[in-house]
Formats: sequence, structure tokens, C-alpha cells
Amino acid sequence: MSKVYFASARVKKWKYADSMPGKLEKLLQTINLSSYIEPKEWVAVKTHFGSEGAHRIVRPVFLRKVVEAIKLVGGKPFVTDTVRIKGLDYLEVANQNGINHLSVGAPVVLADGLYGNDNIMVKAGDILGEIAVASVIYDVPAMVVCSHVKGHIQAGYAGAIKNLAMGAVSATHRHCGWKCGRGAMHAIGEGKLLWDEDKCVLCLQCQEICPLEGITFKDNKFGYDDELCWRCGRCTRVCPEDAITLPGGDDENFMKSLSEAAKAVLDTFKPNKVIYVNFLTEIQPECDCMPAAEVPVIQDIGILISDDLVAIEKASVDLLLKQKPLPASLAQDENVKDGDDVLSVLHKKPYLIQITEAENLGLGSTKYELIDIT
Ligand code: SF4
Ligand code: SF4
Repeated sequence: MSKVYFASARVKKWKYADSMPGKLEKLLQTINLSSYIEPKEWVAVKTHFGSEGAHRIVRPVFLRKVVEAIKLVGGKPFVTDTVRIKGLDYLEVANQNGINHLSVGAPVVLADGLYGNDNIMVKAGDILGEIAVASVIYDVPAMVVCSHVKGHIQAGYAGAIKNLAMGAVSATHRHCGWKCGRGAMHAIGEGKLLWDEDKCVLCLQCQEICPLEGITFKDNKFGYDDELCWRCGRCTRVCPEDAITLPGGDDENFMKSLSEAAKAVLDTFKPNKVIYVNFLTEIQPECDCMPAAEVPVIQDIGILISDDLVAIEKASVDLLLKQKPLPASLAQDENVKDGDDVLSVLHKKPYLIQITEAENLGLGSTKYELIDIT
């Protein structure tokens, strides 16, 4: 049975050892990183840098603790993410959100280059075929995947599987474009954006959020650059009127494609080279790539660490399911009741398919032992 180590977010004694950074240090000691990392080995600390307005990410203090723990066992860490907006701007977002060399204690690099097309095609499953894995992730021998657990409009639940699938795959490939990148998950098939003029209220939120500045409203008519478009789906998510749609696969295939992509990423590592840290903190309803972070819908729970992707995701969901919805949040607006699955009520997505499919693909086990180290 897989082991998942847990540290609660609650503080019982007013001392450093009972703080979240202190407990993360203990979790990292408990899992014994030297079993996974060789001296002088380069180690990617994979996180999400957030966006200009989305400050609820894995906090830099936690990334620093991971970096320090890797250094303690002789590894050479760097903190990384793939390009989500133009590369230079994304590095500035990281800096603004407090993730820089000085704060985290290690270089902060883009995993797929300044243009987001430095990647290697890797065989994936029946849905995706092949997928463009960021070259830095492809080449690095070891990785600690630091995931901010939260909701997601398309995935329902976003944790380590999504951090690997969407986060370690590029938006685009140099030759085959979005169809080989994360857009292949967002829009399985042709993925032409559709606009419904009758629904549109010309609020221009879609234009503002497009990371490529690819949306126009000439004569109040929606237009987008089909060649350039990454199929990131952000314009569809912010539209308050559902006036833009991105036709694609159904929810089941989308969830399965996430697990397929996660497997493609993990296939670039030898066994026992990847550790997962899930942060069940600031659990907001939406993705860290959105232009704003909503208030949390579930109270902080704590931090989990494991070497089993499926086990840590199952344990995270099991903990989420025990929580009550927070007042004065979207959960209250949407009338989520005590005992409800908050993320399911908010997004109405069959997110557990991510986990069952990952288990089917051999990425771990849903049978786990939760070990509370606090
Ligand atoms: S899906 Fe929408 S927001 Fe994303 S790149 Fe294409 S036009 Fe821009
Ligand atoms: S976000 Fe939706 S309603 Fe607003 S301008 Fe774009 S398509 Fe129209």
C-alpha cells in the first residue's frame, strides 16, 4: 500500500516546528529525498507561477523549503514552469508573485524556453497520440512536483495530475502547433472557436485575457487568429455569457487525456525519480492561470507528500470531501451545503476519472495509507 504523509494546516503550539514551513521541512525529511535524488543531480521543482492577478499559488516560502531539502541531499535544484503567456512576461509574473532566485534559493527557469516551443514529442495514449513535453522536464533526471490543489472550470479538480499534464506540456509545438500541445487536451479535434453574437455583451473580457493578444472586435464582431491561437480556452472561461465555445471532446475524454499526458511526462523519468507535494491551501474555485484569484471555497487543510501520484491525488480528494464549504465564498453563492462535494457542485465535472484513469495507466494506486506526521 502506498504511503502518503500528511501535515495539518492547524497550529497547536506557537513555535516554528508547528508552522506550515516547519511541517513541510519535516515532511521532506520523512520521505527521505536521498532515496530519490543522487548527489549533484539536477532536480526540477515544478510549480505554477500563477498570473498577474492570481496570487494564491504555492507560496515561495514553501518552494524555498523544497529547494533547501534537495540541496541538503546534494541535489542541484531549479524552480520551473512552462510558458502560459509570452515567456518574458511570464518570468515577470513569477517575479511579481515572489518566485525568483533570491526568494526560492535556486534559479527560476522556463521549462520550454522563452517562446514556449522548446519541447520534445513523446508518445502518449489513444486519445492524444503524441504530446509535446517541455524539453527541460524531458531532460531533467529527477523532479519534485509542487501542486496547488484547487478547483478548475474544465477539470473540476486540479492537483498533481493536472500540474503534470497541462503544466509540463507546452502550449504549442514548433511544427504542429497547438494540436501537439496542451490545446490537444482542451480541444480534442479541430477546435475552432465559435462565437455567438446574440449572446455577446461586448464586455471584452475575452480580449483582455488572451495571452497572445489574438482576439479582435472589428465592427463589434469577434475575430481570432486561428493560426496563432493556443486553444488555452481562457477566453471561453471568462465569458460571462457563454458566448464563446471551444468544441472538443467530452468530459470523460478530457479527464482521460490529462492522465495520458501525465503518463507521457512521467515516462521521461526512470522509476523512483519523482516526488509529489500537494498543497491543500487557499483552495480557490479556479485555476492559477486566471487573471484573478477568488477567495477560498474550502478552508486550508495542510500539505501531503508521496512518491505515488495516484495515492496523493486520491488522498487529497478524500480530504477535500470531508470539508465544509466556506461562507462568504463562491460556495455560499452557489448554495453548496455541508456534506456536498464542493468542487463537484461548483463545476459539475466527473473529476475522479483523472485518478481512476491514472491508476489504469499504471501511475500509482488508489490504495494508500495516510500517515499524519503532526
Ligand atoms: S483559446 Fe482564446 S484566449 Fe486562448 S489563445 Fe485562443 S483566442 Fe486566445
Ligand atoms: S467575454 Fe463573451 S460577452 Fe464578453 S466580449 Fe467576449 S464573447 Fe462577448
